[in-house]
Amino acid sequence: MSRPPEPPAAPPTPRDAPAPAPGAASPADPAPPALVEVALALPLPAPLHYRIPGRLAGELRRGMRVLVPLGGRQVTGYVTDFPGSSSVPPGRLREVLGALDEGPLFDEELLALVLLAARYYVQPPGELLRAALPAGINVTGRRTVRRVPAGEPPATTSPTGGTAAAAPRSREPQRRALRLALEERPVPCDELLRRVGQGCRLEDLLALQREGAALLDFDLPRPRVRSRKTQLLTPAGPARPAVHLGSRQQELLRLVHERPGISLAEARRAIPDAAAVSRALEAKGLIRRAEVEELRDPFLDDPVVPDQAPVLSAGQQGVLQEIGQALTARRFTPFLLHGETGSGKTEVYLEAIRLARAQGRSALVLVPEISLTPQLAGRFRARFGDRAVAVLHSGLSEGERYDQWRRLRQGEVTLAVGARSAVFAPLPALGIVVVDEEHDPSYHQDESPRYDGRNLALLRGSRSDAVVVLGSATPSLESHYHALTGRYRRLELKGRPTGGALPRVELVDLRLHRPARGVVPFSRPLREALLETLGAGEQAILFLNRRGWAPVLLCQECGAAITCPSCSVTLTLHREEARLRCHYCDHQQRVPSRCPACAAEALVQLGLGTEKVEAAVRELLPGARVARLDRDTVGRKGLAGLLRAVRAREVDVLVGTQMVTKGHDFPGVTLVGVLQADGGLHLPDFRAAERTFQLLAQVAGRAGRGERPGRVIIQTYSPEHHALTAAQGHDHLGFAQQELLLRRELGFPPFSHLVALHLDGPDAEATRAVVEGLGRELEELLVRPGAPPVTLLGPAPAPLEQLRGRYRWQLLLKAASRPELRTLLPSLQELVARAQKQGLRGAVDVDPVSML
Ligand code: ADP
Ligand code: ZN
Repeated sequence: MSRPPEPPAAPPTPRDAPAPAPGAASPADPAPPALVEVALALPLPAPLHYRIPGRLAGELRRGMRVLVPLGGRQVTGYVTDFPGSSSVPPGRLREVLGALDEGPLFDEELLALVLLAARYYVQPPGELLRAALPAGINVTGRRTVRRVPAGEPPATTSPTGGTAAAAPRSREPQRRALRLALEERPVPCDELLRRVGQGCRLEDLLALQREGAALLDFDLPRPRVRSRKTQLLTPAGPARPAVHLGSRQQELLRLVHERPGISLAEARRAIPDAAAVSRALEAKGLIRRAEVEELRDPFLDDPVVPDQAPVLSAGQQGVLQEIGQALTARRFTPFLLHGETGSGKTEVYLEAIRLARAQGRSALVLVPEISLTPQLAGRFRARFGDRAVAVLHSGLSEGERYDQWRRLRQGEVTLAVGARSAVFAPLPALGIVVVDEEHDPSYHQDESPRYDGRNLALLRGSRSDAVVVLGSATPSLESHYHALTGRYRRLELKGRPTGGALPRVELVDLRLHRPARGVVPFSRPLREALLETLGAGEQAILFLNRRGWAPVLLCQECGAAITCPSCSVTLTLHREEARLRCHYCDHQQRVPSRCPACAAEALVQLGLGTEKVEAAVRELLPGARVARLDRDTVGRKGLAGLLRAVRAREVDVLVGTQMVTKGHDFPGVTLVGVLQADGGLHLPDFRAAERTFQLLAQVAGRAGRGERPGRVIIQTYSPEHHALTAAQGHDHLGFAQQELLLRRELGFPPFSHLVALHLDGPDAEATRAVVEGLGRELEELLVRPGAPPVTLLGPAPAPLEQLRGRYRWQLLLKAASRPELRTLLPSLQELVARAQKQGLRGAVDVDPVSML
């Protein structure tokens, strides 16, 4: 680890630990003070050194949070080490103000993982440590203060008189007032200060603490845990007792025997007055009722129905056996499980987790966007029990998330399911990590602190001797390549255990099926298929990756399109709201009747959005029940209800953006229509074809999951593109082969490694000047003798050149060898730091995922 730089010098203030008077400190203070290395939750490249005051001697542990001074502020930091010495002169070292936790929040293993990740992704360690904790814990609690009774050892920091002398005499009256007001029980500081008045400030309390008269502490807010009691019903007698029972009593008794431990809430669905009926059965001694606290998940208000594993297919058994062997060997083994949607991967995860749990080891399941797929988390709860799974997702309140985290931390729960950041879940003795839909770009965090959940899952697994299962129907090209070259072990599931065939996929060439007037959503084949599907009483999904009514409003007179004032994109027309909206920033405005540029009344709408598709379906099928799923229609609560309505077949046609492509299981859907497959194909990103293929394969996988075969119709202007032909043939291998050839030719991952620099600034010209200067420096660096063989692409304006009023630039560094590329990281950090001093915002992005 690099030498920590000095804490930024600031004149000592009475609030902070003061520097001793010159010449006075050394003779009275011969032993060097104990030091601590603290990573601050701030954009600092390395941790800082602080002195440990006497009252905290022996109190601090690695992985604990502390409050420390920085300049004139007090900030939260994380104890990362206890260095024996520091390059910071003793007089300049400042003191830790207090401990924020009673014990470490990270065990050594997790702390090491996060610090390693910070180094790999060149992120500020403190920021990554903060991101690894649940948000609820970071709400710094209110500080409390209590009187230190006489006789208790004074809490002074130094035996010399120097410390106390730092408190200015002028504030003695305030301190006296506070001394008198202190109580033996801790009271909130702000409350005490308000009560005493007289201009008392927190610094007076800190002075009292240094004097040994008071002790400050922190009071973490209690998490808001919403819990509810429910009753579980279990049999207590025979299923067919001799006594006479009413029909509802018989029904409930049968249910309880079929599903022992069924919750009352669940039973109510079958028998509305189950509460009364269960009381009657209990009185007859036929069942038992036990009250349990029910943990509530805002996405799944219903308790889940416990289920049991199906008999695994031969293919599933084979795959499970390999994973099981690796678990038994307790050796890090990365697997790539390739299996089409519905091929039974999730069942394999569940059973593999059961094996790990049987070994007494914990399990971690990462999913891309858990709020979109509550069903999946539900399957883990159904198999292992409601209370056995910690579900970590952004839809929970901070208190709820903190509570889930705490249950893991305390070892109460040993299975965590969550999105990206759950890779930091506190799980000791990790046995298995599952990364579902491993190809999903949402595993990569594109803002600070940047990291990649999938790669960290592998890193974590390797450090815990765990098995890591990357699963996908459309593995990323990188993972596919690693499986080809033997770095991962490839596992495959073929076909669907439920017997359903893969849907038939048709490509409709939009050049041949050109609609008569303007943009009409449906070609003739798609229109006919829709009519047929609904005629047969089945359901359809229509997918278009663009929300709103129309993405462009253009003046036919002068040709200008209406654009966002702060982003380089056109504004999208939203007809329901009658507004124009930018999909990148929060800008919105009224829909003008005239062209803002030339005042002509000649504005026309171009293009297609989901809102318009919905209207077109209603026009085509006036009797159909149509729903729309995109960011405009979904509050989180609304989502669960909408998904349930589709499953319950209360919706005939679901129109939506990529939200509809996620792993939903709608057995009644037999038709999937893709309105325009080309949108993503032309993005300036070397992964554009891969993303398009993945998206098409995912959405196609929504069709025909039930008894009836599915059908997929993809409308496109490029039916000959390999992403489309491969999607048509369900041919991931063919796609991967062809795409790998292209990547090799262009020298892109997996045949090279990338680091991107993102820079942006508020002024177009000034930004360009700084970025170009930086580019020249980098070029010089790369031609120097002994420089690593690294190719520099750029600087170039980002494809999305202006965003939220800032001008964005990118530089891309490409190398065949990762270690060689990494030798440049310190210089890159330096360049970014320099650009920041010149008013730019900059970031180093290791293994970048999005090139936009
Ligand atoms: P994937 O995760 O690959 O999409 P799932 O594990 O969700 O596949 O399986 C798809 C469907 O098939 C689910 O409804 C699941 O319950 C069912 N299923 C999986 N394995 C079996 C099996 N061995 N026997 C019966 N049904 C199964
Ligand atoms: Zn904008």
